[in-house]
Amino acid sequence: MSLDYNSLLLAVGFSAACLSLTLFGIWLTARSEKFLLTWAVSVLLVVADIFAYKAYIDTPGRLLGIATFALLLLGFSTMLGAAHQFTTGRSPLPRIVVGSSISLAVALPPMALGYDGLGFMLENSFAALLLFATALEYWKGRKEFPAPIIGIAALYSITAISFVLCALVLALDGKLVLGHAPSNWAEDLSLVVVIACMTGIGALSLALNQGRLAQHHRRDALTDPLTGLLNRRALFDLHGGTPINAFTAVVVFDLDGFKAINDEFGHATGDEVLKLFAKDLTDNIRPADNAARIGGEEFALVLQRTLPEKVEFTAERIRAALAARRIETETRPLSCTVSAGYAFGSQEGLSFDKVLSAADKALYAAKRGGRNRVFASTFRRTG
Ligand code: GH3
Ligand code: MG
Ligand code: MG
Repeated sequence: MSLDYNSLLLAVGFSAACLSLTLFGIWLTARSEKFLLTWAVSVLLVVADIFAYKAYIDTPGRLLGIATFALLLLGFSTMLGAAHQFTTGRSPLPRIVVGSSISLAVALPPMALGYDGLGFMLENSFAALLLFATALEYWKGRKEFPAPIIGIAALYSITAISFVLCALVLALDGKLVLGHAPSNWAEDLSLVVVIACMTGIGALSLALNQGRLAQHHRRDALTDPLTGLLNRRALFDLHGGTPINAFTAVVVFDLDGFKAINDEFGHATGDEVLKLFAKDLTDNIRPADNAARIGGEEFALVLQRTLPEKVEFTAERIRAALAARRIETETRPLSCTVSAGYAFGSQEGLSFDKVLSAADKALYAAKRGGRNRVFASTFRRTG
C-alpha cells in the first residue's frame, strides 16, 4: 500500500480529531483551565477543514473552497485565542474575532469570484501569520516554563514557515486561477510538517498544563487559605534546612485572649481579625522577609539581614497597629492585642527549630509579663 497525499491528509484529520477529544476530556476534569476548551474547539475546526479540503481535492468548487478557507482561518484564529488565554488568562475572543474577520475578508472574495489560485495564496499567507502570532503569544509567556514554551513557539513557527512556502510557490507560479487544489512540493512538505509539529505541540502543551497544575497544587499546599500568608509547612520548607545566622531574626506573635473574642463575637469575626492582623504583618515587612501563619492565632516572621533594634521596631509597630484598631462588629467595636517574642540566630548558625523555640519562650514571657508587649529572647545569655 502506498501512502499518498490523500491518505496522509486523512491521517492528519483523524489524529487531530483525537487531540481535540483529548483536550475536551482534560477540560472536563479541570474546567477552570478554559483555554483547553478553546483549544479543543480550534483543533475541531481544523479537523472539519481537513475533511472539507479532502472533498475539495476530489471535487473542486467555490462553495467547498469557501468552506475550507473559512474553517482553516477560523480554526487558526481560535488557536491564537487559546494561546493568549493560556499565557495571560484573558478572553480569547478579541483575537478570534480580529484574526478571522481580517483573514476571511481578504482571502474569501478571490475564491468566491473564481480566482482560486490567488485565494489559496492569501489563505496560506494568513494561516502563516496566525501561526506566527500564536508562536509569539507563547514566546511572550516563556518565563513560566521556558523549555516547553520555547519548544511550542518553535513548532508553531516551523508550521508557519511551511505555510509561507506554500504561498510562495503559488506566487512564483503566478496563476490566479487554478481550477483544482494546489499540488506541489511545498504542499507535500507542509503536510508532513503539520503532522510532526502537531504531535509535538500536543505533547508539550499537555505536559505544560500538567506542570502548571502541579505548581498550583504546590502553591495551595504552602499557603494558608484564610490569610494568604505562608503556612507552617512553607515556613519550614524555606528555613528548616538552613542554619540561621546572627543577622536573621524569627519573631513569633500570638493574639491575646483570642478565645474570648471568638466566644463573644463569633468565629467569623475572629477570622476577620486574623485577616486584618495578617495584613498588618505584610504591611510592615520588606519583600525579602517572610510572614507565615504557623497555628490558629499564631504567626511568625523571618527577617533577614537585620539588627535587634530594627526587629524590636518592626514587632513593636505591628503590635501597636493592632492595639490601635477598632474593628466594627454587629454588637460593639472590638479591639484586640498581640504579644510577641523574637530571637536571633548565631554567628556559627543555629537550627531554625532552636531559634523558633527561643522566640516562643520570649513570647510566653511577654504573655506572663501582662500581654500586648514584645519581648526579646534571653537565649544567648542563658543558654
Ligand atoms: P492567650 O492570650 O493566652 O494567647 O489566650 P488565647 O485565648 O488567645 O489562647 P488560646 O490558645 O486559649 O485560644 C486560641 C483560640 O484561637 C482558640 C481557637 O478557637 C482560636 N482559633 C484558632 N484558629 C482559629 C481560626 O482559624 N479562626 C478563629 N476565628 N479562631 C481560631
Ligand atoms: Mg495560641
Ligand atoms: Mg492567643
